[in-house]
Amino acid sequence: MAQTRDLSDKAQRHPEKAHKPDTPILRKPSWIRVKAPISEGYNRTRKIMRDNNLTTVCEEAGCPNVGECWSQGHATMMILGDICTRGCTFCNIATGKPTATSLDAFEPGRVAAAVAKLGLKHVVITSVDRDDLKDGGAEHFAQTIRAIRRKAPDTTIEVLTPDFLNCGPEALEAVVEAKPDVFNHNLETVPSLYPTVRPGARYFHSLRILQRVKELDPSMFTKSGIMVGLGEDKQGVQQVMDDMRAADIDFLTIGQYLQPTPKHHIVDRFVTPEEFASYQSAAYGKGFLMVSATPLTRSSYHAGDDFAQLRAARLAKLGS
Ligand code: SF4
Repeated sequence: MAQTRDLSDKAQRHPEKAHKPDTPILRKPSWIRVKAPISEGYNRTRKIMRDNNLTTVCEEAGCPNVGECWSQGHATMMILGDICTRGCTFCNIATGKPTATSLDAFEPGRVAAAVAKLGLKHVVITSVDRDDLKDGGAEHFAQTIRAIRRKAPDTTIEVLTPDFLNCGPEALEAVVEAKPDVFNHNLETVPSLYPTVRPGARYFHSLRILQRVKELDPSMFTKSGIMVGLGEDKQGVQQVMDDMRAADIDFLTIGQYLQPTPKHHIVDRFVTPEEFASYQSAAYGKGFLMVSATPLTRSSYHAGDDFAQLRAARLAKLGS
């Protein structure tokens, strides 16, 4: 059963960051403003998550969009426990050694029950990294997809997976065989920043798994995203877009990095809405079927509406 930890205990949440000096959190610019979370819909979503003993990335990562998303029932459930085995410097998910109870055989059923109760057209399922498991949690993803298909057959499913590094090809294949509608894995940043931003990951491995998904099932939509404002330059972002297109990725998301605590990676700069618009038009020019690039874009933000547009874009392309 997933354990819920005290979100206020920073030392407990990020033991690998405890020794780092604090860096001041910059004041957000006027274009990053979000609604207060509380609404009737928000409370209903929260209750369904609690009743089913589910963890969400919305809460664990401190997502700024939680008020808007939860008011519409759009919660992104996080499976495989709430403790991540990586130590990415941007991420607010708790890190450490997962507990013995954090691989819960009943979790897929509870996720499916919550999806049905929320009445979702489209759901995004993500997870922590589980380098302690031989398959990285792939079979648990597959079981969760199958459980949702049984309980909510009309709901389209998007998975936002870890990279299954060192798991062998079977792990990725198990998830693809379960046939999610969208396979999403985030590259997160430009390759030159991997050692400081995503030290446990490998850029070309992440890119390769997305390419491999398309090879395994050309009909499956693939999606990936990066954050900006971490210290990347524009040429680096353009190069990532080219790499993604070479891997045949359909959908690109770009959002502003926000620093969760003084122990996390510093915000290098706030990218303006005009720069986001310029990235968006460059990305469409490179051939992505769908692009979302705004300061508050997150992988799962407006994912249902975006999926409908993604499907329409593919149909239009096939018809042209
Ligand atoms: S953008 Fe995604 S992670 Fe953030 S609140 Fe919405 S569904 Fe949750």
